[in-house]
Amino acid sequence: MSCQINGEVPGGVYLCQIRENISCGACCGLYNVADASQEALVSMLTCRTETFARVSRTMDAILAFRQEIEDREVQTRPYPQFHHCPYIGWVGQKRSRVGCLLHPLAQGNHGVDFRGLSYYGGMACRVYFCPAYHRLPAVPKEIIREVSTDWYRYGLIITETAMLTAFFEELERRLGRKLSRDDIVANEKAAEVLTQFLDLKLNWPFRPRPIVGWANYFFEDRLYVNPPINYESLGHPASKYDILLRELNSSIDSVATLHKAERVLERILGRLTEALG
Ligand code: SF4
Ligand code: SF4
Repeated sequence: MSCQINGEVPGGVYLCQIRENISCGACCGLYNVADASQEALVSMLTCRTETFARVSRTMDAILAFRQEIEDREVQTRPYPQFHHCPYIGWVGQKRSRVGCLLHPLAQGNHGVDFRGLSYYGGMACRVYFCPAYHRLPAVPKEIIREVSTDWYRYGLIITETAMLTAFFEELERRLGRKLSRDDIVANEKAAEVLTQFLDLKLNWPFRPRPIVGWANYFFEDRLYVNPPINYESLGHPASKYDILLRELNSSIDSVATLHKAERVLERILGRLTEALG
């Protein structure tokens, strides 16, 4: 919910609004739209932001904006029970990252917090922190903040707590030591290989087709989770990359496909270990 720094940040590393073109709106339902391609989101966010700039800051006008957006945009969602907030738009001096149009620091709000008019209400929008805040270790958080180059990919990956934890744990196991932020951030080759891993969220060839949605439903009620791989029907023991395969939402129907998917991960981890050697 593009939450604000308010005293201590859980886990010590802030993840929501990072810099000019890096921010996240995943918990506001940003990616829970029928077409979650970057082009479609850019167009949606631009249209909303321009429309909202003309809205007077009164309760009635702000609520009418919501109605207008919901009438104008397709309301079919891959995850019907994951609320998509119509007040997510562009923020920042250059309108170059996603954020909350109702936030007191957003353009035209003159310091007034209008988030009380949202579906979740002002308190939830102010204090919510996703599981990545609480569970993802500080070093991976810092690394991903630094190596990310655009808001679209950053918001897709930063909430993937189980995937990122498993990946960095395996990397540390291979290295035989703890990883530091600068191991990756100060090493161009390592950053490039890590980016290849992060981009698997978008490029993973083993996702079920057609792709239903890109959003990560990370809320505690676990209404939408990736199905486990059925190793029994494959007649194959569980993969050592099981968490990664599952979190990448893999559809594995044969041992050959399983081995192919494992090789992709193996190659990236091998190259990254080498770059850090
Ligand atoms: S009002 Fe909407 S966009 Fe703003 S923080 Fe709340 S859920 Fe997110
Ligand atoms: S999903 Fe997490 S990182 Fe993204 S805006 Fe929400 S609280 Fe912040």
